[in-house]
Amino acid sequence: MAMQPRESYQRVFELLQAHHEWFSGALPLIASENIPSPAVKEAILSDFGNRYAEGWTGERVYAGCRYIDQVEQICIDLAKQLFQVDFADVRPISGVCANLVAYTTFTTPGDTMMALAIPAGGHISMGKKEFGGTAGSVRGLNVEYFPFDTEEMNIDIDTTEKKIKKLAAEGKKPTLAMFGGSVLPFPHPIKELVPILQEHGAKSCYDAAHVAGLVAGHQFQDPMHEGADAMTCSTHKTLPGPQGGLILSRPENAEKIKKATFPGNVSNHHLHHLAGKAIMFAEMLAYGREYAAQIVKNSKALAQALHELGFKVLGEKKGFTKSHLLVADITKYGDGKTIEKKLEDANIILNRNLLPYDIKEGRHFEAPGGIRCGVSEVTRLGMKESEMKEIAQLMYRVVVKGDDPTKVGKNVNEFRKEFTRVQYAFESTRDAYEYIQLR
Ligand SMILES: *Cc1c(COP(=O)(O)O)cnc(C)c1O
Repeated sequence: MAMQPRESYQRVFELLQAHHEWFSGALPLIASENIPSPAVKEAILSDFGNRYAEGWTGERVYAGCRYIDQVEQICIDLAKQLFQVDFADVRPISGVCANLVAYTTFTTPGDTMMALAIPAGGHISMGKKEFGGTAGSVRGLNVEYFPFDTEEMNIDIDTTEKKIKKLAAEGKKPTLAMFGGSVLPFPHPIKELVPILQEHGAKSCYDAAHVAGLVAGHQFQDPMHEGADAMTCSTHKTLPGPQGGLILSRPENAEKIKKATFPGNVSNHHLHHLAGKAIMFAEMLAYGREYAAQIVKNSKALAQALHELGFKVLGEKKGFTKSHLLVADITKYGDGKTIEKKLEDANIILNRNLLPYDIKEGRHFEAPGGIRCGVSEVTRLGMKESEMKEIAQLMYRVVVKGDDPTKVGKNVNEFRKEFTRVQYAFESTRDAYEYIQLR
């Protein structure tokens, strides 16, 4: 029998609280996630979340924007300062939405776009029509993959140049190249490829959904200063903000981008999250360099420790990683789905991931050969290199030794007890995963 409304209502709150309790004692290692500061959460709870403000600041289609306009202007100014650019549109409501704004700005349906394939680290928003990818199925773009070198874990420059020439000769010259991706351990060769793309009249956009916080903290390649025409990103992966999006560009593209955002791809732009983005940009200006540097140290330390314990971490030749994440081939111990579940039972939360050679070897997304670990969130909680060694040990016990996940899970709870507050923030007066009741 269906639950009564009051019971369902109550049940939702119980589940929310249970989730908070679980995460308070878990190791959150999902590379696309993070934990915002209490200040960001306060902004998200505000009445901004119930309002509309279509259009650009000062030119709104709605009344009631007296304070909203000022916050949005601060948000824009902070984003420009943080990334040292002359134009930022903070309205896209997610990374996918920011990519759609870029596609709307730089392409026409039917055009050719270059991007990474998903097993090579690309994202479904840059995907082909046959896989339901946003670029193909929503914008009608013909997606051509960048040739990828598995040893280097990077785009291959020479074969890409040949491919661009071949596409041009066939009358399928790309109008846009999307760099970046969801598995991005090493900087992409933008400096090398932008001049070649420009020769053929193609624009370049960098999808920094994952690495924007490292870019802001000057610990990873800076696409806008390496020649890209635009950069899109999520605001909640290495950037520790509310879930949202952002697009940066040069002033010459500003008017086209503004129109592509509104009315093109957003109406309501989630003003509570916009206020949260402003708070996060301010935190990043103050603490971003230190935070991003610790992230990179931590991911290198975790990769090295896992490697020493027998895990096959990809990119060994290049030192495993220069970003916040690493990918390991776990085919020796099982498939990605089973290992993900065992680790989850041990309160170690990460996700399975396709390896660049999985499709060739007959594996697929359901049960791929890899796992992906990101260290942004545990870094926010104050963990450093020595804690990465302990995390590697805990993973080793579950994956390699086959210890009982429930037992390891208790050790994870113990280990987490010392790391309760968000660091790299102006104020952090509450526990990171504290459940706050307003009712
Ligand atoms: C996560 C991700 C996105 C999508 O971002 P959302 O904010 O979830 O919409 C886009 N591109 C890449 C490369 C990503 O990893």
